[in-house]
Amino acid sequence: MCASEQGRGSSMAAQERPVIDLSERVALVTGASRGIGRAVALELARCGAKMAINDVPAGKGGAEEVAEAVRGLGTEAMVVLADVSKADQVEAMVKQVVDAWGHVDVLVNNAGITRDTLILRMSEEQWDAVLNVNLKGAFLCTRTVLRHMLRQRWGRIISISSIVALAGNPGQANYAASKAGLLGFTRTVAKEVGSRGVTVNALTPGFIGTTMVESLSEELKAQVRARIALERFGTPEDVAHAVAFLASSQASYITGQALGVDGGLSL
Ligand code: NAP
Repeated sequence: MCASEQGRGSSMAAQERPVIDLSERVALVTGASRGIGRAVALELARCGAKMAINDVPAGKGGAEEVAEAVRGLGTEAMVVLADVSKADQVEAMVKQVVDAWGHVDVLVNNAGITRDTLILRMSEEQWDAVLNVNLKGAFLCTRTVLRHMLRQRWGRIISISSIVALAGNPGQANYAASKAGLLGFTRTVAKEVGSRGVTVNALTPGFIGTTMVESLSEELKAQVRARIALERFGTPEDVAHAVAFLASSQASYITGQALGVDGGLSL
């Protein structure tokens, strides 16, 4: 429950419940123009964080609408355009946030793409495109924000990996490699920066109802649903709630972990 929801309960008991309060925090979410990134930006805003909403320049649009929705929740928002796979653009993006708000406390490495095909047909371009956005992008953003987080001795880095990192998936060798790489990256950086008050975690979502999943055939969707213990696809909000928890002070003793948000699909 976010701090903003606290006021809605009228009883003392409701007011005394522990809440996620990010009102002193600045959060940067990559790929936040739609899908999971959008839901994460809105959830962190509900918890009070000032929101930097990243989108790729000349992307499909939507980031301004997300910023408006964030402002409607009573906090500040800015759109920061950058291709996360380009070091100079990432540096400029983080500088824009720090120049405006003085610090950056939470980074959510969410931007991700797919270029699916079986391994024998996979081109070098398809491999590079996915690794560059999904894995190199997380490296560049993490390295850049860490300079600020280490100085202030507080930070939260949360990367959106995937269940595919653990289970593999035919047609997604590039995507699975990028998402598995994120897990090794998370564990390593967690060890490097833990002494400075920065936690580094990952989520491994299962099938979440965004355009990425809606594009699957009805037959495949039915097959997958039958294997999910909770018998439904996840929502972007399911992932966003887990991100808000990991960003909170309540999660301060959790680092280097990969949290499954998959309705039991990985069981
Ligand atoms: P989505 O709807 O396709 O959204 C992806 C976002 O990333 C968009 O905002 C997109 O911008 C942005 N983006 C793409 N390339 C970028 C770049 N180079 N720099 C900055 N932003 C970039 O995806 P989603 O389903 O919400 O997934 C979000 C994350 O969760 C991804 O990392 C994905 O791998 C992961 N995930 C998703 C699922 C699922 O079931 N959906 C499951 C597990 C993990 P444009 O719209 O402008 O292109």
